[in-house]
Amino acid sequence: MENIEYIIIESGKAVQPFNYSVGMYGSKFFYELKNNRKFLGVQCPKCKKVYVPPRRVCGDCFVEMKEFVEVGPKGTIGTFTILRFAFIDPETGTQKPIPYGYGFIKLDGADTLFQHYIDVHDESKVKIGARVEPVFSDEKKGTIKDILYFRVID
Ligand SMILES: [Zn+2]
Repeated sequence: MENIEYIIIESGKAVQPFNYSVGMYGSKFFYELKNNRKFLGVQCPKCKKVYVPPRRVCGDCFVEMKEFVEVGPKGTIGTFTILRFAFIDPETGTQKPIPYGYGFIKLDGADTLFQHYIDVHDESKVKIGARVEPVFSDEKKGTIKDILYFRVID
């Protein structure tokens, strides 16, 4: 095997903090998550589909949605993966402990799938169709990190 010289190019020490608006519907969602530990969705007046997190326009009907509904907090795993390859988490700058689960969860009462981490302490219980519940952070930030992960309850 030939020798390969690995070249590392440093991008510098640039820090680029930024803020962005999550919008009116995102603000409602994160307000309820932060202050009441509730999940808020929005229902289409035409097809009755419930979107979580809420969005302004139904992707199927192209009509504005204004009917907010509470969903979850429990749900069902729609699909998932278990990550076993270590990498630097861009959110923290440190290596995220492996293995960890990431999945798409259908919260009770919702028609869309909600993405988040899934506890894989006991991997044998993590299956498509497994019932899960959120584990909330003690710290209330009003961000998606107010949920630490979902865990299997059955
Ligand atoms: Zn619709």
